[in-house]
Amino acid sequence: MIAIINETATQDQLDHFVSWIERRGFKTNVSQGASETIVGIIGDTTQIDPLLLESLDIVDQVRRVSEPFKKANRKFHPEDTVIDCGHGVLVGGGSFQVIAGPCSVEGEGLSAIARAVKAAGAGLLRGGAYKPRTSPYSYQGMGERGLDLLMEVAGELDLPVVSEVMDPRDVQTFLDKGVDVMQVGARNSQNFALLREVGKTKVPVLLKRGSGLMIDELLMAAEYVMSEGNPNVMLCERGIRTFETRTRNTFDVNAIPVLHRLSHLPVIGDPSHATGHARYVRPIAYAAVAAGADGLEVEVHDHPSEAWSDGAQALTPRQFADAMRRIALVREAVRADEEG
Ligand code: PEP
Ligand code: MN
Repeated sequence: MIAIINETATQDQLDHFVSWIERRGFKTNVSQGASETIVGIIGDTTQIDPLLLESLDIVDQVRRVSEPFKKANRKFHPEDTVIDCGHGVLVGGGSFQVIAGPCSVEGEGLSAIARAVKAAGAGLLRGGAYKPRTSPYSYQGMGERGLDLLMEVAGELDLPVVSEVMDPRDVQTFLDKGVDVMQVGARNSQNFALLREVGKTKVPVLLKRGSGLMIDELLMAAEYVMSEGNPNVMLCERGIRTFETRTRNTFDVNAIPVLHRLSHLPVIGDPSHATGHARYVRPIAYAAVAAGADGLEVEVHDHPSEAWSDGAQALTPRQFADAMRRIALVREAVRADEEG
């Protein structure tokens, strides 16, 4: 249920209203936008008489929100959320960013890749130190040493980092190292213990859609993070499993406008895991941008054939720089279309 607050209400009246609701055992979510203030009421709201709420001076309108996701719901928070990833890098609400780097942190070679992606315009550096591999015998990542290396290289370039956390027991290590954005990978998108643990922090979370997750399930996963108190969630479409085998996954371009309609959270497109082949990464990146993505996550490696993981889908720095030029053109074309 949401209560839309009268424009004339004072902060005192609003505080009073919120504590009145909370005293009745409900949680609240206050969204103070430029044009509207909305109080989201979370709990078994069947016990609340909407007419009683509407009779209060401060309340303009009351509406029931039928979707099970509340904090992630655009009805609770009509304005786009903008996530501050550190180092002055914002995502969402018109701020567009590209996250780029190798699938895995592999050692000193990271520095050259990081410099190349920054020079091409990437706003965040990615690199996995803990890798979720389908086989336990595949390379599992450098662990803590990988995180240290990632932080060191990114620090030199003044870039925020994105790195995947797989285990709730590692969240504290990510906090201690100062990782700017914690990625929850597709395979862990319904690991509720992990979602709750990252939710107890305020560190931005890049939440990937599991390959078998419906859009509503992704939003419920975001709700797990947000319900613990962390509002800084970015949703990521990275391809879903379909009957098609020519590509690693099928990029669900529909998910981008659908998520934007249902939620105020930024939406990132990952054309690398969505396709699994470097030759398809650029066209799908452009499709994601044209569909309105707030950012992209792209794997880049200077020697893809020698990459320790996901080499087949890595763009070379040259291909990435070309992609960045065209991404800017697509954004310009789409913006012009929105204005027209
Ligand atoms: C990754 O980003 O390297 C990764 C493993 O992604 P996903 O969880 O989407 O497969
Ligand atoms: Mn990868």
